[in-house]
Amino acid sequence: QRKLERSRAHFRKAAKRLPLGVASNFRYWGDEDTFYIARAEGGRLTDIDGNGYIDYRLGYGPTILGYCDPRVDAAAQEGMRIGSVFALSTERELSVAERIAKMVPAAEMVRFSCSGTEAVMAALRVARAYSGKDGYVVAEGGYHGVFDAALWTTDMEGWAGEGDPDLVPYSGGVPRMLRSLVWQVPLNDADRLEDLFKRQGDKIGAMLIEPIQGNCCAISADPDYVRAVRELCTKHGVVLIVDEVKTGFRVARGGAQEIYGIQADLCTFAKAMGNGYPISAVAGRRDIMSIIGRGVVHGGTYTAHAVSLAAAEKTLEILDETDALETIAGYGERLREGLSGVLKQRSIPHCFVGHPALSGLFFSETPPAGYRDWKASDYLFYDTLAPLLVDRGVLIEPDSREPWFICEAHARDKAAGDCLDETVTAFAA
Ligand code: PMP
Repeated sequence: QRKLERSRAHFRKAAKRLPLGVASNFRYWGDEDTFYIARAEGGRLTDIDGNGYIDYRLGYGPTILGYCDPRVDAAAQEGMRIGSVFALSTERELSVAERIAKMVPAAEMVRFSCSGTEAVMAALRVARAYSGKDGYVVAEGGYHGVFDAALWTTDMEGWAGEGDPDLVPYSGGVPRMLRSLVWQVPLNDADRLEDLFKRQGDKIGAMLIEPIQGNCCAISADPDYVRAVRELCTKHGVVLIVDEVKTGFRVARGGAQEIYGIQADLCTFAKAMGNGYPISAVAGRRDIMSIIGRGVVHGGTYTAHAVSLAAAEKTLEILDETDALETIAGYGERLREGLSGVLKQRSIPHCFVGHPALSGLFFSETPPAGYRDWKASDYLFYDTLAPLLVDRGVLIEPDSREPWFICEAHARDKAAGDCLDETVTAFAA
């Protein structure tokens, strides 16, 4: 059992000044269970009560090499000496864009921003301007950020499976008038998407998809479906936006697009590209991206901040030129095997989905086929397991929606101990 006295006392003070006592709704774990971090190193966190955790949330994905990676931090410090933001550009923007273009063939041109949300907002604006159509489609189970256009969800209760699912805003304050611009389609149903494009193709200018759903337990689309989406978008003049904010520079050098063998029209990156420093990018086809500046606005005071840009340059260099991603995938495999061994011994049905670097764990023989399946599945077991593991110092998300993230530091440093072996031991206890 963890001691949480100091976190609990801090929460009571913090909740008076910060809504829910935190800086993001997702960091609130309940009045008694919200805890605060003192520091991080490698693959581990320490909270303000001194509890240590092996971290598989990794800030929801940015930490790819490990916390406080000395190589990236040295680059960031060098960036700090250059300055911050200048309302002018630096040479390094091109160097980072060249690296992204080398790793991701679809990234013919690149623009930077600071968060995943901003990159997706930019992609959607560019797609609308290019296609001349304001409507957009989202594959169910996808998450694309905290802006109004992305905060819609299928109303499961009110939908019988026929016609277009009804959508409800995911948050108060999202203007209902925006409803007429958005459609959602179940993952893996190409016929339904084709039918939608046939009926509404004159209104729909963009489609947003995470082929590996980094925000829905890493449920992965069928390769045939992703290829069909690619073809249907081309056929109906819909700009295909592959949101690689979670998968980019994590599941492969070229992201989910490389794994699925497709090229997006536009794609978005953040998280792993800066190993935790705030930076994101929208990238894509030259003819589409070139409309930025030709009547289409893109900007931001902090875009391509010198510190983040230097960190991204070093992170991407490491991910591209070393075997870090292969190592991380190997760690993920090893962890899966270890956990699987324990579960098999106890005859507990289970399976893993996604990618070893971004894994979903399910307590069923076959994985859910999509968001609806996941909603309907019995994930109670996970809800019981997660708090137990957290109490044993293995930090995973309390519900199964967020995958397990792996970083290079989870087993790199002998002196820091092997997080993966420790996790399997904690899991078996
Ligand atoms: N798109 C995807 C696929 C994401 O996973 C996220 C964040 N979880 C976002 C967009 C939004 O990114 P941010 O939180 O940096 O705004």
